[in-house]
Amino acid sequence: MKLIIVGAPGAGKGTMSEELVKKYNFPHISTGDMFRDHLARKTELGLTAKGYMDRGELVPDSLTIQLVKERLTRPDCKDGYLLDGFPRNEAQAEFFMNMLEETNLGLDAVLYLDVDFDKLIKRITGRRICKECKSVYHIEFSPSKEEGICDNCGGELYQRADDTEEALKQRLTAYSAETMPVINFFEKLGYVRHVNANQSIEKVTEDMFKSLEENN
Ligand code: ADP
Ligand code: ADP
Ligand code: ZN
Repeated sequence: MKLIIVGAPGAGKGTMSEELVKKYNFPHISTGDMFRDHLARKTELGLTAKGYMDRGELVPDSLTIQLVKERLTRPDCKDGYLLDGFPRNEAQAEFFMNMLEETNLGLDAVLYLDVDFDKLIKRITGRRICKECKSVYHIEFSPSKEEGICDNCGGELYQRADDTEEALKQRLTAYSAETMPVINFFEKLGYVRHVNANQSIEKVTEDMFKSLEENN
């Protein structure tokens, strides 16, 4: 299965990616995770990306595209992949479509997690992430069994630096201006599967798998 997952910050892309990986066992390529990994390792790319991420702005395309190209051309993507957080603007979408043409990478569907913006503040400010395995939790909607500790690996949970009300505002502005047009673009090409992401995690998961089964 070859998928892109899109949606506003806090829509549930990371959470649904965990479910998809359990089923399809494909590489989960999250540009946000990749930038955070670079930052944790204090690479030049990570330190450059930090300012943009903290402000809720997009990291420049030249850096992002290079990162994705390197990852998508590795052999483990040939049989399937899940692209999360990319493409996020028109230039990235153009790069991606050119890459589809030039390689035989392929794309099955674009999963669009459609959520009302008023749901997002609570999701974003309550989000906790495992430092080790990157599992996603929520203090209210998806708590770990032991506070602050990852159920899967025992790692420490942390709150992302950009999971503040102020950074969220900027991220939503960037999403509306730059990412919504990309969703329209894929819609016209017939790739988009709509999923109502306002519902419980269980219901969104169920609907998402149903949408993938349809006309396949
Ligand atoms: P969320 O899951 O909340 O939508 P991400 O983890 O995908 O957020 O992204 C966090 C930040 O990383 C973004 O606000 C942006 O600064 C940067 N980033 C991630 N993906 C991209 C991308 N495709 N292009 C530019 N910047 C990106
Ligand atoms: P994204 O990757 O799109 O930014 P996440 O998957 O990280 O979103 O989810 C954001 C936060 O909301 C996390 O804390 C997650 O546990 C929680 N969450 C995800 N999906 C739902 C849902 N359907 N209902 C309630 N909370 C959710
Ligand atoms: Zn963990």
